[in-house]
Amino acid sequence: MTSLHAPPLVQTLEWDTPLFLMARAQFEQAVPHAGVPAMVVERLSFPERAVIVSVPLRRDDGSVAVFPGYRVQHSTVLGPTKGGIRYDAEVSLGECAALATWMTWKCALLRLPYGGAKGGIRCDVKTLSTREVERLTRRFTSELVREIGPQTDIPAPDMATNEQTMAWMMDTYSMQKGHAVPEIVTGKPISIGGSVFRREATGAGVVMVAEQACMRADHDLAGQRCVVQGFGNVGGVAASELHDKGATVIGVSDVSGGVHDRAGLDVPGLHAYVAAHGSLEGYDGGERVTNEELLELECDILVLAAREDQVTGSNAGRIRAALVVEGANGPTTIEADAILAERGIPVVPDILANAGGVTVSYFEWVQDLGRLFWDRDEIRRKLADQMTDAFDRVYAVADEKGITLRQAAMVAAIREVAGALEARGIYP
Ligand code: GLU
Repeated sequence: MTSLHAPPLVQTLEWDTPLFLMARAQFEQAVPHAGVPAMVVERLSFPERAVIVSVPLRRDDGSVAVFPGYRVQHSTVLGPTKGGIRYDAEVSLGECAALATWMTWKCALLRLPYGGAKGGIRCDVKTLSTREVERLTRRFTSELVREIGPQTDIPAPDMATNEQTMAWMMDTYSMQKGHAVPEIVTGKPISIGGSVFRREATGAGVVMVAEQACMRADHDLAGQRCVVQGFGNVGGVAASELHDKGATVIGVSDVSGGVHDRAGLDVPGLHAYVAAHGSLEGYDGGERVTNEELLELECDILVLAAREDQVTGSNAGRIRAALVVEGANGPTTIEADAILAERGIPVVPDILANAGGVTVSYFEWVQDLGRLFWDRDEIRRKLADQMTDAFDRVYAVADEKGITLRQAAMVAAIREVAGALEARGIYP
């Protein structure tokens, strides 16, 4: 008989950064409701493998700079690991470990045959030229060539990486193998085996779950007043989808700050402005607000699509949204979760709300492996089915156990991985 009571978790200093401790605290909050054996809890508490590399870059001026790079693989229980590559000044081993852990739960919740991974390079990409980013990406890919693979670990875009980054990764990997390997990455250009609707998938998935959450609360998404923090690949697409579905987008923001109009912003106009000027800086089609003010605007739906650590113990008491939807990974801290729950503000958690990206990544990988391609309508329909199925399972667990949506999503995900781990057992 295996015990249901977890032994005290071993402390491992390598992982103990604030973001990893947050991921682990979420796990520990869910475990008592999951009813899984202690060995499962122990095994899934830490990533399986991590690689740290030093990536040398010859700068355009001829000098050489060295950047730290990481790839963390959290779990291989359900299949190869999967997750993005980010270029950001905050990238660290602990951050990648937290994000890799969340990818395990996200893939398991969506019933994708993957475990979680995440990686990236600690750098300020704005200070690098395009040629420098290309050289950095190619050298990083070479450093990881033994770690990644279509059957072992499949990277994808994340913060400050995109289709072009994935094309360089795919080309570098393929050159080293001697033949084209499109299935090594997802989120690549369609011309080299990328999937239609992958670019829009995360933002579209966010709006699919927001729509489901509205239906549960007996109202229509159309007419809801929405604030979207972040106007990149996730927030920008989410704002457009909300607008297309008849919701009123009253606030958006990017790194340059926020824009607010109680009567509703011109979302296509905002996109046209960003396409022409690179950011929202200088946009005058609404009142300018700071990022902090944007988060505290009164609204029906607040979409957090910027980055981690945005709603915290210090501002959660001032959030005036009826519903929070997490497009980014880890935007709400443990303290904020408790405050929002106390105030009766539901949070649709990241591992459910932003899972559209990795779900269409899975479709892309399957299409590449099968050398076949589906059209946009088919992918959108398959995504909606998968998101709705996961959404219904999360709400059912939350209702049954009287726990938050995040705890319910974690319980559903942990049970998926636990079932597989129990069947496989611990080797040897
Ligand atoms: N970086 C995205 C995420 O955090 C997508 C990962 C993927 O498609 O593999 O979910």
